[in-house]
Amino acid sequence: MKISDDVRDEVSDLPAGETWRFDHQFCEAGEDTRRRLYITKPASGGKLLAYCHNCQQGTVIEQDSFRKSSRPPMKPLSGSFNLPEVELRADKWPSEMKNWLSKNGLPIVSSQWTGFTGIGYHPHTHSIYLPMYEEIAIHGDTFDTPRVKGYQLRALSNAERRGPKYVTAMVDEDEVMSSLLTRWWGSHLPMQVGVVVEDLLSGWRIIQAMSSNVSVLVNYGTKIDLSTLASLKAERYVVWLDNDNAHVKSQAKKMAKTLELIHGNPCRVEKRYADPKKLPLASIQEALNGHG
Ligand SMILES: [Zn+2]
Repeated sequence: MKISDDVRDEVSDLPAGETWRFDHQFCEAGEDTRRRLYITKPASGGKLLAYCHNCQQGTVIEQDSFRKSSRPPMKPLSGSFNLPEVELRADKWPSEMKNWLSKNGLPIVSSQWTGFTGIGYHPHTHSIYLPMYEEIAIHGDTFDTPRVKGYQLRALSNAERRGPKYVTAMVDEDEVMSSLLTRWWGSHLPMQVGVVVEDLLSGWRIIQAMSSNVSVLVNYGTKIDLSTLASLKAERYVVWLDNDNAHVKSQAKKMAKTLELIHGNPCRVEKRYADPKKLPLASIQEALNGHG
């Protein structure tokens, strides 16, 4: 049974008595996107136990065999930043990519809309190209040209996959976040809501749902970084992570406290829903507008 280095790194500080769930990246029973790999640290301490409910295999993880941080999870780009050659025209994308985007909250409603996102197809690796923006401000039907500071390539089908599921590359490893926001042209009004999400597609889903005055911080996971949280400025905050295990829930709570401390504005944790990318737009509007 194979367990990815990313997961090994993440569970290296798993507290005793807790179980965390992950997608089983190399699952022999097929692609796992429902976090069916359970890793438990027994309350008595000792070795980590892993079990996948998809391939029904288990193993003991030798903790001292971890080479924690021997391999950075993000690959920094040195010198000039070369973007991969990607196809940005949605009508040229494979249908597998369109289906995946649509299932993950980004239906291709117009080429203009997908143009905003800068998302593309990378034929060389048969992957979806997801750019990481320093800040992209959408004004109605147009946008500021953003600085791209990194990207992720998300491999499409298993059969044609030659590399890992996600490859992440960026200019500066300390800046693993994207900021997406909507505001009217020339408006300098403060943002009404600041939302923290784990992944880019959840971020775009919120932008689709909220026409203006929302600022979304894509955190690429649940790590709490003070300077990143300090950069999110709004009158009130919502932390909206993929709320499906104890670890994520506790990170969400800590993140909310941290935002309140830094900014002095209220923050609540969205607990009813998992990540926004799977939700109807009306539910997102209700979740973000319906609470003070
Ligand atoms: Zn498995």
